[in-house]
Amino acid sequence: LPVPPSLLASLETVKDFNKEAFEQVHQSGESITSIRINPYKITGQPLTAGGVLQPLSGLAANVPWTQYGYYLPQRPAFIFDPLLHAGCYYVQEASSMFLEQALLQNIDASQPLKILDLCAAPGGKSTHLLSLVNEHSLVVSNEVIKARASVLEENITKWGMPNTVVTNNDPKDFARLENYFDVIVIDAPCSGSGLFRKDPAAINEWSEANVQLCSQRQQRIIADVWPALKQGGLLIYSTCSYSAEENEGMMDWLNTTFAVTGKRLTVAAQWGITEVTVANDLYGYRFWPHRVKGEGFFLSCFQKAAGGAFHPQKNKKNNTEALTKNEAAIVQPWLQPPIALHLFKHQQELMALPQALAAELPILQNHLYIKKAGVTLGKLAGKELIPDHALAVSTLCNKDIAAVDLLPYGSGDPHQHKEQALQYLRREELVMDIATKGWMLVRYEGHHLGWIKALGNRINNYYPKNYRILKGG
Ligand code: SAM
Repeated sequence: LPVPPSLLASLETVKDFNKEAFEQVHQSGESITSIRINPYKITGQPLTAGGVLQPLSGLAANVPWTQYGYYLPQRPAFIFDPLLHAGCYYVQEASSMFLEQALLQNIDASQPLKILDLCAAPGGKSTHLLSLVNEHSLVVSNEVIKARASVLEENITKWGMPNTVVTNNDPKDFARLENYFDVIVIDAPCSGSGLFRKDPAAINEWSEANVQLCSQRQQRIIADVWPALKQGGLLIYSTCSYSAEENEGMMDWLNTTFAVTGKRLTVAAQWGITEVTVANDLYGYRFWPHRVKGEGFFLSCFQKAAGGAFHPQKNKKNNTEALTKNEAAIVQPWLQPPIALHLFKHQQELMALPQALAAELPILQNHLYIKKAGVTLGKLAGKELIPDHALAVSTLCNKDIAAVDLLPYGSGDPHQHKEQALQYLRREELVMDIATKGWMLVRYEGHHLGWIKALGNRINNYYPKNYRILKGG
């Protein structure tokens, strides 16, 4: 499908647009595949890993604007890689990873921060943010569309970090948390032209009218959430659209509507990123696919110049209760947390958040619909914990819990082990020789996939139904 002529015409005046080169990259059929590793699961620089990451072994990250991004030589069948399901990496378009520069060049990430990712599903930016901030910082991942919020929750769960809260709210609901966040990321819903090369079907949905509609919606989203950003706080705005109305136009609108300071980023010339300037001192960064190794993307950072401090109101609602001594003693052996935890109960579920974030939960609960806070550890059945999947794939899980290894490093038949891992991930019946009884972790290449319960004569597969792989192959 050709790029719409009216889009091409509208881009004529935009910096570094080159019609021939732009059309050529869209017709070339070239596709770029990139992933971002989870530094809390895949350690070691240069990278050591198996599965689809194996060809990368020994290499350093090579997406230039992030420590964690890798281009892959081709697009593997990710769905059949057990390490994807273990949350070891996230499949993400390379240009989007520029978020890392926007955050780290503006913020001291060693400080405890409160960050809101407002338009977060399916979780690309949120999982990245979780790899950039320290473990005492809070990342609130929000998605307004319910079905998409569930996908977000799944991806955040697999990423395994305890310092997250997933919410399902409209942007305007955040206005009640006045001056609360240090950073707000708005990866706005947009007309999507930047992804035409990856998803040609999006070309059919593109129209000038939709660009207008998107820019109005973007204004509304920013205006709705603006009160929640504290004075001096950072707004990171991004789209995957080429249209000036959604990019430079939004910078202009922000500048005339709110008191902001533009933030300039240092970008290496060889990255191929285009810096645009609006109103002399606002800066935006454009990713043209004929100039960078990535898809179309735009990002701009602003500091909020005026605003007040956060004044916590008296919280009416606190739906959580602390664990009793006995309950805490039951969960303790399952945990090996790298940080101090706040353990609590929500309805029947036992949960864990970093201790440093304990006071934030009632504040958020008061104003938002929380889908998930921290890591779900499990439920109690008498004196026994029924462990939750989230615990198995979290960074809190005790590594000394009994486990079955589906691929001991360097031994066994890798194909057979992978088949077994896929059987597990499809939630099929497993046939294994396990002498002991009880809960066990299933491990693949040293990474937790989830739980089984060995009963002596058979094995129960506890992989969550809603996460299971449905496809054959
Ligand atoms: N940040 C995500 C990531 O990196 O994986 C991608 C976000 S996507 C570009 C924009 C998101 O905004 C979508 O999930 C969409 O459902 C959501 N959205 C749509 N309409 C919205 C609205 N009116 N307010 C807030 N978010 C909206």
